[in-house]
Amino acid sequence: KPDIAAKIALKLKLARPASIVHALDGVDLTIQKGEVVGLVGESGCGKSTLGRVIAGITSPSEGSILWEGEDRATMPTEKRHRLGLITQMIFQNPMAALNPRMTVDELIWEAPSTHGFARRSERRDYVDKYLRLAGFDPAMKTRYPHQFSGGQRQRVNIARALAVQPKFLVCDESVAALDVSIQAQVLNLFMELRDKLDLTYLFVSHDLGVVEHISDRVAIMYLGRIVEEAPVEEIFKRPNHPYTQALLAEVPRIESGKRRFQVVKGELPSPLNPPTGCHFHPRCPFAMDRCRIDAPVKREIAPGHMSACHLNGERL
Ligand code: SF4
Ligand code: MG
Repeated sequence: KPDIAAKIALKLKLARPASIVHALDGVDLTIQKGEVVGLVGESGCGKSTLGRVIAGITSPSEGSILWEGEDRATMPTEKRHRLGLITQMIFQNPMAALNPRMTVDELIWEAPSTHGFARRSERRDYVDKYLRLAGFDPAMKTRYPHQFSGGQRQRVNIARALAVQPKFLVCDESVAALDVSIQAQVLNLFMELRDKLDLTYLFVSHDLGVVEHISDRVAIMYLGRIVEEAPVEEIFKRPNHPYTQALLAEVPRIESGKRRFQVVKGELPSPLNPPTGCHFHPRCPFAMDRCRIDAPVKREIAPGHMSACHLNGERL
């Protein structure tokens, strides 16, 4: 299908001493071209891991990710570059991703020169183009990352990601470390870039306001599984899965003006030893006998709205 950017169906088992962690337990997710999919869930649920697998930093142990119908894992690097099936990841802490001994100019030029995106003679135009796209003044490119504010550094990071001409960006808490006013600017930049460069996004965030603002669709993750996904208005108005309902429950907003996801009662079980059946059953107020035995399958409960809960059979 021409309008599907990525079709993801995978498992990821991480070997740890004397154990296997099912970090991603049969995730399936289809992302349309140009879409922003917000991915949320408690820390430790596997969202960053899924982001890393999608970005090609970690390989799944089973399953595949089809990019525009092609399996990137079996595709030679050169072909991937030719098709532009490149995914870049933008992390929370831009400083960690930037070599402090390189100037902004060197940081932007490094990857495109290595991968042959531009010739030496085109360097200045190429670097300036991507800095401008990220809203960074090229006149400052001879300086080092530590000479800039967090927001400026994140712009350098974004320019650096864009310079290898990706079609897909994975943003993992990319604005979490920034001041609220700068957050809004960077979020708007992401939206502008989507339109200018036809980008598709997976946007991992724990901030309710950010997710609501930026996402077209939201996927809710719990212990390595996606338990619900729906268009953004739908998920906020009609959350179906008991976990989503708990996560989105009204929170008294006292300080900071930030809207955070609710802290769900009970502890997140260890992915080393996930509960049987529905992973959420030990914390679910509606748990039934079968929830301890059968893992519920995601089903469509309204157009474009999928939820994995045994209650749905009874609610429908
Ligand atoms: Fe709760 Fe059962 Fe639904 Fe899981 S399947 S969320 S335990 S009702
Ligand atoms: Mg994380």
